[in-house]
Amino acid sequence: MSTFWSPHLGKLTPYVPGEQPRIERLIKLNTNENPYPPSPKVILALQAEADERLRLYPDPQSTRLTQALAAYHDVAPNEVFVGNGSDEVLAHAFNAFFMQDAPILMPTVSYSFYKVYCRLYGIQANLVPLDEGMRIDPANYTGPCGGVVFANPNAPTGIALSLDEVEQILRAQPDRVVLVDEAYVDFGAQSAVSLVRKYPNLLVVHTFSKSRALAGLRVGCAFGQRHLIEGLERVKDSFNSYPLGRLAIAGAVASLEDEDYFQEKRLQLIATREHLAEGLRALGFEVLPSATNFLFVRHPSRRADELAQALRERAILVRHLKAPETENHLRISIGTDEECGQLCSALAAILGQ
Ligand code: PMP
Repeated sequence: MSTFWSPHLGKLTPYVPGEQPRIERLIKLNTNENPYPPSPKVILALQAEADERLRLYPDPQSTRLTQALAAYHDVAPNEVFVGNGSDEVLAHAFNAFFMQDAPILMPTVSYSFYKVYCRLYGIQANLVPLDEGMRIDPANYTGPCGGVVFANPNAPTGIALSLDEVEQILRAQPDRVVLVDEAYVDFGAQSAVSLVRKYPNLLVVHTFSKSRALAGLRVGCAFGQRHLIEGLERVKDSFNSYPLGRLAIAGAVASLEDEDYFQEKRLQLIATREHLAEGLRALGFEVLPSATNFLFVRHPSRRADELAQALRERAILVRHLKAPETENHLRISIGTDEECGQLCSALAAILGQ
């Protein structure tokens, strides 16, 4: 803490890069990255873009990408906003819509950055507990508030709400923005993008980091009616007029154009997830139903922190989330079939089975 800092900075914690260690031959199942490379067409598009034009600023509106996303999701280009990873899009959305006179509602267990943005912008939040099955109960999001945010499917639980349940929340909050973070939607949930025309209070956020294997490119986007997109643009224009670089725009467009590759890898990951869930249940783990590229599990008689440490000693990283509500759970990202097989063998050895 420095005396030069604005007072709220003391409450912000720096990102500790412990989840991204530089160890060779590591099985990395801790940050929900995609184990497969991006489409080869993305790599070709990036190579074609890497030339002398890099000396110029990129298109501030990312027009090519906005248009490609609009066509892909059947919305108008002015209903699309793009940013430097969905983290940036979420931060702008909190700034644009949640600095209200009332606290926002969000689940006690959800993406950890929501709390960080609240601290950053001085937004009050009322944390809503999950039900006994670790599900979001839409009935708990109907009271007066400054807005609603949740991930669907939720993270780190992996459980998805149906579109009917999402609509229940949207109908209960006609005067507040309901922000639905669909970072993992491609792995088995229904997307609320189809509801954008129906609900002026709906903002849906997507990322290219998970199902499109482009975490390194930093591309995220949001879908909503024109007045919401305009709100996001006002924040963006005051913050960074050129959020997406030339390479990011070209790579993301190429990814949207290679639908066959996208579907193949997406379905492969879902199949591997179901296979891994079976394997973990056979080892005695309780596994929540997942619509994501990770599993949220606990062992009834073994401590999660000790299991995570024993795996780390075998060069396998999984995530132990230390919050009291998720105590004793592990979040395991879906790797390749081979990586998941190695994980199960290591766990069998650790559990003495
Ligand atoms: N939302 C959720 C629920 C996430 O888990 C993540 C990544 N961990 C993000 C958003 C941010 O993703 P990115 O900034 O890479 O788009």
